[in-house]
Amino acid sequence: MTAKEVIAAIRNVPDFPIKGIQFKDITTALSRPDCLVWMRDEIVKRYKGLGITQVVGIESRGFILAPAVAMELGAGFVPIRKPNKLPAETVSVTYQKEYGEDSIQMHKDALKPEDVVLIHDDILATGGSMAAAIELVKKLGVKKIYVNCIIELEGLNGMEFLKGKAEDINCLLSIEVDE
Ligand code: AMP
Repeated sequence: MTAKEVIAAIRNVPDFPIKGIQFKDITTALSRPDCLVWMRDEIVKRYKGLGITQVVGIESRGFILAPAVAMELGAGFVPIRKPNKLPAETVSVTYQKEYGEDSIQMHKDALKPEDVVLIHDDILATGGSMAAAIELVKKLGVKKIYVNCIIELEGLNGMEFLKGKAEDINCLLSIEVDE
């Protein structure tokens, strides 16, 4: 399996959810056992030996691979959720989206100061939601933060936007935003 083959398995859906957006649909890659294992193993390879204690997944597509990666790394899994979904005491971050604003939440006691955290999501576009996730994790005062996405959408400068906000920022695959 190569990165090129996995990219070929990702479906582009034009004009979803609104006109002008080229939606990168990973479900077509997830349903292929060879692509699924490749994605999990590539993430595990990169982060093994770094002492990661918790893998934080961003709702909802960050929940797909994060627990599988966590199990391989011997780490736990922690969800970042949309507002009012988590039952215990939470911390929140509100951030600006293209239209209006959005909030994300985590349980206040989900992470400890000695945790080394890997934050994972499926796609890095502008980096706005990942920057908010980093800010949220920082509120809990962890030791180190690594960031990983399956796909970077080239041309939206997400990597540039996140520079300096975490220890290391990595995407497995790079796809042109208009492809
Ligand atoms: P951003 O905050 O701009 O980096 O957007 C990242 C979030 O929006 C991720 O959770 C993605 O799942 C989703 N997203 C943004 N653009 C796309 C796209 N073209 N195709 C699929 N998902 C996208």
